Amino acid sequence: MDKSATILYIEDDSASRRLVQRVLGSQGYHVLVAGDGLEGIMLAREQYPQLILMDINLPSMDGREITTRLRSLPHFATVPIVALTANSSPGSRELALAAGCTGYLTKPIDVGTFPEQVEDFLHGRVEPLTVDERNQHLQVHAQNLVMRLENKIQELEVANQQLRELDRLKSDFIVLVSHELRTPLTLISGYAHLLNERLKQADEAVPASLVAADAQGLSQGVTRMRAVVNEIIRVARIASGTLDLALGPVRLPEIVEDTYLSLRQVCQQRRLKVQIGDLKRLPVIEGDGTQLRTAIEQVLSNAIKYTPDGGSIFVVGRTVDNRAVDLIIRDTGIGIPPQDQRRIFEQFYVLGAIEHHSTSKSAFQGGGLGLGLAIAKGIIEAHNGRIWVESERRDPDRLPGSTFHILLPISQASQEPTF
Ligand code: ADP
Repeated sequence: MDKSATILYIEDDSASRRLVQRVLGSQGYHVLVAGDGLEGIMLAREQYPQLILMDINLPSMDGREITTRLRSLPHFATVPIVALTANSSPGSRELALAAGCTGYLTKPIDVGTFPEQVEDFLHGRVEPLTVDERNQHLQVHAQNLVMRLENKIQELEVANQQLRELDRLKSDFIVLVSHELRTPLTLISGYAHLLNERLKQADEAVPASLVAADAQGLSQGVTRMRAVVNEIIRVARIASGTLDLALGPVRLPEIVEDTYLSLRQVCQQRRLKVQIGDLKRLPVIEGDGTQLRTAIEQVLSNAIKYTPDGGSIFVVGRTVDNRAVDLIIRDTGIGIPPQDQRRIFEQFYVLGAIEHHSTSKSAFQGGGLGLGLAIAKGIIEAHNGRIWVESERRDPDRLPGSTFHILLPISQASQEPTF
C-alpha cells in the first residue's frame, strides 16, 4: 500500500480534522473529511477510501452506528475502519470493535507515531476481540441501537404532531384571512357599484355629497384591506428576520397616550375605563418608536377586545435596575389559560373556535388573525426585550383578567438579550 492512499476522516470537531489532515497530508496521503455521519457515508460511497478514521461521539449518528452501516455495504466489508476517540471509558474499545471497527486509537493523537499506526492498519492490522467479548458487546451495541431508534421515533412523532398542529393553524388562518378580506371587499364592490350607478345617470345632477359618501365607503374598505395585508407582511418580515429597526430616542408615555387616543372612542362606546398611571418618570429609551407603537397598540387593543363592556384596563410602568423599563398592561377580561400563555405569542395561534370569528377589531371577543401577539413579540425581541403574560385562567364569567408585561432595555448598546 503506498502513501498516496485515500483516507476518510469522519469527525465533527474542525480542529481535530485540520490536525489529522495536516499530519497525514504531509506524509502524502490524500485525506478527505466529513463533519457528520451522513456526509461521511456519502463521501465513502463516492470516493471509496482505502481507510476510514472514525470519531465515535458524533451528533445524530454516532461512529459505531456509521461503522455498522458501512459494513453492511459489500465494498466496505473489509476496508479498515479505525475508531479515533477521546472516550477511553472501559468497554468502549470492545464496543467499537464489536460494531465493526478494525482498530481503536485514542485522542489526542501522538503526532510522531500516528502516521505509523495508520500505516499498520492500511497493511492489514486488525485488533483482536474474542468471540465471547464480541457477542457480549454486540448485544450492548444492538441494545444501544434500538434505544437510539426508539428515541428518534419519539422525537419524530412529536415533530410530526407539531407539524400537524401547525398545518391546522395555517388552514384556520387561511379561513380567517379570506373572511377578513372578504368583508372589506364586499364593502368596496358595493360602493363601487353605487358610484357607477350614479355616474351612469349622466344627465341628472348627482349631488357631490352622495359621491363623496361613496368614495369614503370605498376608502374605508381599502384601509381595512391594507391593514390585513400589512399585518401579514409584518409577520412575514419577523419570521424571516428582516425586520429593520430605525433606532432613536423613544418616549414610552407619549406612545401609550397616542395609542390610547386612537382607541378612546371604542373604549367610550364599550364603557371601558382605561387608567394610565404616572408614566412621566419613565426614562427615554432607545428603540424604534413606530414599531414599538405597533407592539403596544396590539397588546392594548387585545385588552379591549377580551374585556367585556364596563371593564377596566390599567397601564403602569416601572424602571427595573436602571437597565430596563417594564410596561404593564392589565385588564379585567376573560383571562388566558396557563397552558396557552406561551403559545398565544406564536403566529396563527388563536384561542377558541374560528367559527365564532368576527371581523370586528373592537367588539368584545372580536376576532383577529392570530398574528397580533406574534408581531408584538417579534418587535419586542428585536429590541432585546421580552413580552409575557400572567393570568390565572380563562373564565368569561368570573373574569380573572390578564396582565401583559413588556420589558425593554433602556439602551440597545448590548446586542445580547438582557433578560
Ligand atoms: P388575535 O388576532 O386572535 O387577537 P393575537 O395574537 O393578538 O391574535 O392573540 C392570540 C390569542 O390570545 C387570541 O386569540 C386571544 O384568545 C388571546 N388573547 C390575547 N390577548 C388577550 C387578553 N388580553 N385577554 C384574553 N385573551 C387574550
